[in-house]
Amino acid sequence: MALLNILHFPDKRLRCKAKPVEEINDSTRQLVEDMFETMYDAPGIGLAAIQVNIPQRVIVVDVSGDRSRPLALINPEVTVLEGIESMDEGCLSVPGVFEKVERADKITVKALNPHGEEFVMDADGLLAVCIQHEIDHLDGKLFIDYLSELKRQRIRKKLGKQGRRQSGFENRRQVI
Ligand code: ZN
Repeated sequence: MALLNILHFPDKRLRCKAKPVEEINDSTRQLVEDMFETMYDAPGIGLAAIQVNIPQRVIVVDVSGDRSRPLALINPEVTVLEGIESMDEGCLSVPGVFEKVERADKITVKALNPHGEEFVMDADGLLAVCIQHEIDHLDGKLFIDYLSELKRQRIRKKLGKQGRRQSGFENRRQVI
């Protein structure tokens, strides 16, 4: 187990498009373990491998608040999007910023688990939002891309001032 270093906006590596995992093996499973540990430590409710500088299509989420619903998705693909939800989102790679983003509130997602087995699941509410947020990361997209250019400039300035401090604050709010 190891804590991984989380990249922060505007690091260009967050803009990479992650590649599908071709073979799920022990190193994939180790990555998943380390990502869970890093996400829980931050603390956050979701993490994409690209945020720890590994451009592979791997995400982990746990929206339970008590570490009871860990979910790892490898090569995830959303097959159905329904409804609209607008939630305050944060991101471990954009520390201290929370903004409303509109997303589908019900999704169906297909993925592989860490044993290489395919599964299909439905998700709604916070879990649906979290999965969409993490899959965006795999495509090099951040939640602040949905905001106006003006807001993004303010965020860039704000993060520039505070420097690259580690996340792990604002515990009262969920950080995806
Ligand atoms: Zn994020």
